[in-house]
Amino acid sequence: MKTSNEFTNKKILVLGLGKSGYAAAKLTKSMGADITVNDRSDLSANDHARDLKSAGIHVVGGGHPLELLDGIDLMIKNPGIPYTNPMVQRAIELNIPIVTEVEIAGLLSDAQFIGITGSNGKTTTTMLIGEMMKGSKYEPIVAGNIGTALTSVVQKATEEDVIVAELSSFQLLGTRKFHPHTAVVLNIFDHHLDYHGTVKNYAEAKARITTNQTAEDALVYNADSERVVAYIAEKSKARKVPFSLKTKVEDGAYVSESVIYFKNEPIMKVDEMGLPGEHNLMNALAAVAVAGVYGVPKQHMADVLRSFKGARHRLEYVDVVQGRTVYNDSKATNIIATTKALHAFPGKEIVLLAGGLDRGNTFDALIPELKKAPIKAVLLFGQTQKKLLDACEKASIPVIREVENVEAAVPEAFALSKPGDVILLSPACASWDQYKSFEQRGDIFIAEVNKFR
Ligand code: ADP
Repeated sequence: MKTSNEFTNKKILVLGLGKSGYAAAKLTKSMGADITVNDRSDLSANDHARDLKSAGIHVVGGGHPLELLDGIDLMIKNPGIPYTNPMVQRAIELNIPIVTEVEIAGLLSDAQFIGITGSNGKTTTTMLIGEMMKGSKYEPIVAGNIGTALTSVVQKATEEDVIVAELSSFQLLGTRKFHPHTAVVLNIFDHHLDYHGTVKNYAEAKARITTNQTAEDALVYNADSERVVAYIAEKSKARKVPFSLKTKVEDGAYVSESVIYFKNEPIMKVDEMGLPGEHNLMNALAAVAVAGVYGVPKQHMADVLRSFKGARHRLEYVDVVQGRTVYNDSKATNIIATTKALHAFPGKEIVLLAGGLDRGNTFDALIPELKKAPIKAVLLFGQTQKKLLDACEKASIPVIREVENVEAAVPEAFALSKPGDVILLSPACASWDQYKSFEQRGDIFIAEVNKFR
């Protein structure tokens, strides 16, 4: 168990009492720090707040009083809190270092890290790598943005373990010394520009995954993405391990004549993969490249790719119900993810369920994809209903129906489809206009589908 006196008697402000703030507060407290936790929500009935208070941690909820920053040496910020937050702004003015819990975890881990970032595919690839690393000499611990705070696992991790960490750009922005042994960069799409401002800023946040890497480390990167190559791979000091669908990258993972290869050795046929879609093939190549770096036997890589059926709510295969093959892609909260889903079922006709939170974007980029995809009908709901209606009309989708919500869309989807078709929930929008989360939206979809069994 690694300890550090870096935190002894340091005054730390943990901003945001989420899972990661809770774990980071407990861990740094155990290293002798003087902790204050602050959250804008009222914490009077919060179990975590109660627990932290009983451990001697000062907890302040219901606002951001700036005087909490007096004498603070370090801020551990929840990744979702923007730098425009007044508390964060003031900390910047006061030159207080601002980190996320990833940084703390990196300082306090005996285990090495495999860090995975990208705009889309992080969770799927992190899970695949977790499964593949079971075939290595290390014991994988999967954590990070995927749901388990890194600071809640690092103290248990030993040198025999490897932490497989899903990392968002928001988390990476708050790192300084964080140094993964293997960094994976999947792709850079135009996401989160409300937070980062420009693609360059967004890419530079992601590039932090490799900033502290040396020639002893590996960077597994998407050689098909010009942005990944230009913003990240070309600047990295790590050993480069590419993956590509377009080029035979002989020092990495690639596909040739429908067979997946790592360094010129065949792993398995593409059509044996458990996950559908070309995007998942890219995720698989990334995982194969990582497994290759750690000398995982090819047989194990192939077994994982055959048996892994995907993370929940990500193009999740639900079942064949009344002859319709049903997929739940509720996590498709942007146009790119929905585009990938629309092209994942060659030879099948699709009834698409879409719509949700309006973030102010247009759906122009979806129009050519809707045109190309084999869609027989769409069912639209949520705040973006009218915008999507317009896009679907421009794409000449034959049947377009406006419905109240996912619950109302499912019976229509059965009515408009026939055996052999695909019913696909892939909303291209976040869920918060009508649902608590994408998970709730996906679960409701499945529950409604189950009524047709
Ligand atoms: P993340 O953790 O980055 O959000 P997920 O694995 O949870 O990624 O997938 C989110 C959505 O993006 C799903 O709809 C999924 O089908 C889609 N997706 C997964 N991998 C990719 C990829 N490599 N490129 C584009 N879209 C992808």
